[in-house]
Amino acid sequence: MDQTITGGCLCGKLAYQVPGPVTTIDYCHCSRCRKASGSAFAAVTSVSKSQFKITSGEQYLKSYKTDDDFERVFCSECGSQLYSIRPALVDTIRLRLGSIDTAIEGKVSAHIFATSKAQWHDICDEAPQYEQRRMVVA
Ligand SMILES: [Zn+2]
Ligand SMILES: [Zn+2]
Repeated sequence: MDQTITGGCLCGKLAYQVPGPVTTIDYCHCSRCRKASGSAFAAVTSVSKSQFKITSGEQYLKSYKTDDDFERVFCSECGSQLYSIRPALVDTIRLRLGSIDTAIEGKVSAHIFATSKAQWHDICDEAPQYEQRRMVVA
């Protein structure tokens, strides 16, 4: 079975593909993900950086780097977040689950930065909660 993950941004200019399937689903409740997503948390999974391919619209890729070299990549046309890059992760990017078009079987695996969560949001599932990030075996 073809387990390629495909996805893209809201305006459709950017599209990507990467070998799947999605194995882990983290909800990141850190304040930066909340700001960047405009929501209670960012839903992310880890995929291979070297196998991740932009299939159209590469010229629309824009990234925002924080002073600790954490990079967030998004569409310069519609603002959709696609993935982030942590300097500590060599061949991994953190793909935003909401940008994926392929059907995903799993449910949330873990809540990270759970202690930073929005006060107005309650975590209502049994997935483990981590104070910060966890080591991702991708
Ligand atoms: Zn776009
Ligand atoms: Zn975060």
